[in-house]
Formats: sequence, C-alpha cells, structure tokens
Amino acid sequence: MKKDTELSSELRHVAREGGTEAPFTGAYVHFNEKGVYTCAICGTSLFSSDTKFDSGSGWPSFTNPANTEHLILQKDHRFGIERTEVLCKTCGAHLGHLFMDGPPEAGGKRYCINSISLDFDKKEENHS
Ligand code: FE
Repeated sequence: MKKDTELSSELRHVAREGGTEAPFTGAYVHFNEKGVYTCAICGTSLFSSDTKFDSGSGWPSFTNPANTEHLILQKDHRFGIERTEVLCKTCGAHLGHLFMDGPPEAGGKRYCINSISLDFDKKEENHS
C-alpha cells in the first residue's frame, strides 16, 4: 500500500479527488497483453485482460471486474450528471466510472478506468 505522499500528483488527483486523466493519454489505452490489472496504490487485483475491450473512449475499458468484491460502486452526481463511480474497496481510490454502453454480448457494461489508477501484472503462459 503506497502512502498518499508517495503518489504522483496526477495519481493523487485521480485517486483522491475523483479526477480523470485526459483521454488517449494513459499507458493502457492501447495495450493488449494478457494479465491482471491491479490497483496502482494498494495492489488489489481489479480487472483481467480477458475482459478488456477497445471502447474508442480513450480510457481502458472492461466488461467485468476480476472480482466484484474488490470494487465499490456508488452514485456520483459531479457536474450534475448521475454516474456510477468505481472505487477500489481496499484503499478507497477512485478508479473511474461504470457505464451501461458496453458490448451487449458481454453483458452491456463498460468499466471506464483511468490508466494511471492501474498497474499491470503480466500473466505467465500456463500450459495446464
Ligand atoms: Fe486500491
């Protein structure tokens, strides 16, 4: 678990103030390796590359969390828009928002997550 004083100002703004990184600027927008995305602050596993899709939004987008128990979903009325905010349950970091315009064949959800809120653990090939 990183301390707030160890975070970059960009990550602190997103994670602690509910900020949003500029679209198409994050490290994981166009990134397709196999593995697990974890919370950049506490390391909790959040999303699998298996659920990542290209939404065209400019932010990493996922159809499902790796484990729903690792997230908090709550209503957010910033800017007068009702949205569903996605936070890390372990450390409370703001991650992004959940929208219902995801791929219908995968359940219709789009977890729209800031790259800066994520780290990536590459999955080793397993032959089982
Ligand atoms: Fe976290």
